[in-house]
Amino acid sequence: MKSSAIILGSGTSNGVPTLGKDYPESFLADPKNHRTRPSCLIQGPTGNILVDCAPEMRLQLLREGIKDIEAVIITHTHADHIMGMDDVRAFCLKYQTSIPVYTSPQYQEDIRRVFSYAFRDYPPGIWVPRLDLIDIPDQITLGGVTFQTFWVEHGPIPCLAFRIGDFAYVTDVSHIPESVWPNLTGLKTLVLDAVRLAPHPNHFHFEKSLQVARELAAETTFFTHLSDDYDHSLTESSLPPNIRLAYDGLKIEINHEPPAEKT
Ligand SMILES: [Zn+2]
Repeated sequence: MKSSAIILGSGTSNGVPTLGKDYPESFLADPKNHRTRPSCLIQGPTGNILVDCAPEMRLQLLREGIKDIEAVIITHTHADHIMGMDDVRAFCLKYQTSIPVYTSPQYQEDIRRVFSYAFRDYPPGIWVPRLDLIDIPDQITLGGVTFQTFWVEHGPIPCLAFRIGDFAYVTDVSHIPESVWPNLTGLKTLVLDAVRLAPHPNHFHFEKSLQVARELAAETTFFTHLSDDYDHSLTESSLPPNIRLAYDGLKIEINHEPPAEKT
């Protein structure tokens, strides 16, 4: 069975280009050097699952022509992963119901705090996002695809990673615990954090990501969560062919088993 992933945003937390900086014209001329904040969309056979709500979420979904969302998965609650969440309102209005948002209890608390207005009562006709916060299990079928979920370390906090068939998405990671390595072997495509060239306490940096990509040995690894250290074509020309840079709008084919029949 085939599904697909779209990298909605491939940039680091401040986006690329970054405010207040000058860039060479040649850098700005490449659309792949324009990176919105990190997010991806899984297009399953029966629905779309949004992974994180970047500040540019509305623009990302308009750009890709996405008109429906079945559910949202939040990997963690840093601003670059949740600040677009107010725009879920459009889908609540369209379906006249709440949208399921799957994450850990710890991150549900953050969402309730940051978007406290979304959990209050209002008179009819006033629309706020209606978010159904749900604990994310180790395995869940959404949009007709089965996600295996697991946690990696992102500095001092956990970040949710997941696998669907031969595809895995690991954004925001500084350490992959040995216990979850089996989830990341035998992959056709791995999307992996590689925030910048210099070491970073909360992220894999370029050399570390290269080392982990070699060890996990996916057929293709795409680096994501990228800062302006990376000039897309210059960097790619120095990389082995099985290691590439993600870019906004990158589409990846996913091969997976059909979900198990519910008994
Ligand atoms: Zn983060």
